[in-house]
Amino acid sequence: MRQVIENVRLVQGDVQRRDLILRDDRIEEILPVGQAEKGLPRFNGEGLYLSHGFVDIHLHGGGGADFMDGTEEAWRTAAALHLRHGTTCMTPTTLSATREELLRAFDIFYRCRADLGDGARLLGLHLEGPYFSPAQAGAQDPSQLRNPDPAECAEILERCPDILRWSLAPELPGALDLGRELKARGITAAIGHSDATYAQVVSAVEAGYTHVTHLYSGCSTITRQGGFRRGGVVEAAYVLPQLTSEIIADGCHLPPELLQMAYRFIGPKRLCLITDAMRAAGQTEGESILGSLGQGQRVIIEDGVAKMPDRTAFAGSICTADRLVRNMIRLAGATLPEAVEMMTQTPARVIGKQDVTGTVAPGRKADLVLFDEDINVRRVWTDGIVRYEC
Ligand SMILES: [Zn+2]
Repeated sequence: MRQVIENVRLVQGDVQRRDLILRDDRIEEILPVGQAEKGLPRFNGEGLYLSHGFVDIHLHGGGGADFMDGTEEAWRTAAALHLRHGTTCMTPTTLSATREELLRAFDIFYRCRADLGDGARLLGLHLEGPYFSPAQAGAQDPSQLRNPDPAECAEILERCPDILRWSLAPELPGALDLGRELKARGITAAIGHSDATYAQVVSAVEAGYTHVTHLYSGCSTITRQGGFRRGGVVEAAYVLPQLTSEIIADGCHLPPELLQMAYRFIGPKRLCLITDAMRAAGQTEGESILGSLGQGQRVIIEDGVAKMPDRTAFAGSICTADRLVRNMIRLAGATLPEAVEMMTQTPARVIGKQDVTGTVAPGRKADLVLFDEDINVRRVWTDGIVRYEC
């Protein structure tokens, strides 16, 4: 079936008034406004902004559900919540967990993958841990942290060929070998929850690591040894051109000055936005649970973030992608096309999927989001089908 989306402002590189012709699940043609052929079913975008659907490459859940809950229902709930906020593609992210819990998550991924209905598409998986530095554990369960175990890694890679990225601490014994293995398989090796020195990050990059997981969160920075200062993961993210980075731009985890620094000095081509959302994404206040429903920790939702009950630390983000784009414009000074690039093309490139997702072009999947000047999502398509409208 062919259909027209007319009179939209297409955000990609710049902003231009366009009509789009879709054929089945794909974009067939992009034309100046008014030039789409007559007689086709049409939707009038009334001058609202249209971009590729947002691509979130680091999120744990939403809508009250976590990908580690162990049910297909949880995956559908989280995928539907994020779609309503403009995300059409994502890499569900596992937490540091037992081997059994990880393998169960892989099984659910494969059961859900073919049909998530009105939910964001599953591009593949992101493993966050369990090979992390205890010194940078953050909200990861310290009892689950360990060094890379070649037998366990081999089993994981065997059981789940659709891992697209793996976050780990490259300074751990065996982590450089795992980085080489990931690179050889085309999996993005990301530096995360790491206490590496700058020199160790340089070695990691030589071994094939290409990305920094939630810059500033769980990342080493400047330390002193015998009076000599040395950089850490944060400094390497700025200095090494081989590295891309991601930031939780929820406006809580990082203050505006750090959002501005990352935007200005790393730039939209090397910096992407992630929600890192926990199950309370989409919830505005009250209580939630960090981690599994059975053994997780009670947390408080307020001020746009999840907090530990004593309010001394954050317990995760409750952000959605629309808010990230809005924040980068309002708090970091990015232009709309730059903020959208950091939420579409750049994350797609970080996970090696730039040829399949993140770009609006003839022949590509019609995964699209329509939004107003305040980045309020009005309509979302995946496969050329309207999955949400308000
Ligand atoms: Zn993390």
